[in-house]
Amino acid sequence: FWVMELDKMDENDWKYHGEGNKSLVVSHLQHCRVLRLLKFPSEDSAHTRQTAEQAFRHILNMVDYSKYVMKPLLGEKYVHSGEVVKLPLDFVRQLSLKVQQERPELRCDKVMDTFSGCGLCLPNLTQLPLYHLRDHRPPICVEIKPKCGFLPFSRHITKECKRKVCRFCMHQHYKLANGKWKRLSRYCPLNLFSGSKQRMYVALKNLLEEPQNNLKIFKGGELIFSCKDDAKQQPELNDLIQHLRPYFPHSNGIYNGQQPGKAVLNEFIQVICSALLSGGDSNRSGEPRKVHLSESRPHCEASPFPRDLLRNGNHGLPKDSVLAKVLQVQMLDNLDIEGIYPLYKRVEQYLEEFPKERNRLQIDGPYNESFMDTVKNCPTEDDGSVEYAVGKVHQYRVAMTAKDCSIMITFAPCEEDEEHQLNLEKTRFTYSISILDLDPKPYEGIPHQYKLDTKIVNYYLRSMQAPP
Ligand code: ATP
Ligand code: MG
Ligand code: ZN
Ligand code: MG
Repeated sequence: FWVMELDKMDENDWKYHGEGNKSLVVSHLQHCRVLRLLKFPSEDSAHTRQTAEQAFRHILNMVDYSKYVMKPLLGEKYVHSGEVVKLPLDFVRQLSLKVQQERPELRCDKVMDTFSGCGLCLPNLTQLPLYHLRDHRPPICVEIKPKCGFLPFSRHITKECKRKVCRFCMHQHYKLANGKWKRLSRYCPLNLFSGSKQRMYVALKNLLEEPQNNLKIFKGGELIFSCKDDAKQQPELNDLIQHLRPYFPHSNGIYNGQQPGKAVLNEFIQVICSALLSGGDSNRSGEPRKVHLSESRPHCEASPFPRDLLRNGNHGLPKDSVLAKVLQVQMLDNLDIEGIYPLYKRVEQYLEEFPKERNRLQIDGPYNESFMDTVKNCPTEDDGSVEYAVGKVHQYRVAMTAKDCSIMITFAPCEEDEEHQLNLEKTRFTYSISILDLDPKPYEGIPHQYKLDTKIVNYYLRSMQAPP
């Protein structure tokens, strides 16, 4: 086991790995470790920037939230919370210079935090730690940001279309109009979370056709497939097929009249589907118990699917599957932002009168067992109390985290007798599934979420009235 020696950190041992909106990640060249560093808007002046002390608290809060809130909800086996590390400032500054040229242009509106020296150390989930190079084929990792997998069912909803078309599909139109993306994604989260193999297949195919920021693929820890920086360029499916060929040697010949490339992609999608539906205990025989989570209709009108397929699909997700876990937490949002916003205002009004109560109500943390109790034991009926309002707001924020997380499936060819394998007719894979990006969503973000929801829905309704 490797222990990071914080006083001997060398930027040459690390390389750029990837980034999101909030953090930048570097990976160690030899060990299965990554460092996650926060980012800030580049126009932030030294005056508004967090102090080192605040940054440290912030990262500590993130770890606590992952450990005490998200991990118990999503399951021990899927969540790795990591450790806060205090890094030498010189190392962080050198690292920031080193990675700058690797960063995609669309992410350069923010800069890496080089002031606090705080970071998060995590296992590198694109690798398999116990995979001892018995095979010449390095692990493949598929990262999916699935987004919200159900249609809201709250009685507080004012626009009927929200019950028929999912948030992701509506948001696509808004993003296209605002220049965020140049092409519409046909991916619909309701297909991915359906539990029906056919619909999941379609969802994954749509992600491969237009990955946006919902799909990334790594090989041996290197990014080999993602959205293109140049928005007009199509993702290189042919390159991906070349990478995947050695993993599916049986599909390289003529295959039921299909093109061999298609057969490779087909098997690749099957492997991802099996992993997403597995309970982590795939060695056990027998059909796993299915859960039917959705109270609303299971199908999104923006993603047309043949009626008979919708009717006879085996709906429901296996109880311990990663998809069931994520969906279950997403569904803690059972009032919808339209039901939450008035409760947020109730909390705000109360805090105006009793500002000192902010700590007791744990509005900004700490995210510990007591916060978790509030999330779990929130009453179902509104008794008009501030406690009810805070409980629902906490639940909503937890659900928002689950709507924004990523699922990572890492697999590699394995030998016959290994545990945790996906048994496909021809090739056996050893695999590991994790859920990452489990940061708390800010309480202050709720008014913005409320406005954004209105904008997305109104734009969708208008664009449907006047088709281009
Ligand atoms: P978002 O904008 O999606 O909220 P973020 O800024 O919160 O993203 P992450 O999603 O945690 O940041 O990390 C950015 C990227 O770095 C991820 O999409 C993933 O590809 C990679 N990454 C993060 N954590 C790990 C890890 N433990 N192992 C391997 N790769 C990781
Ligand atoms: Mg992310
Ligand atoms: Zn949809
Ligand atoms: Mg995030």
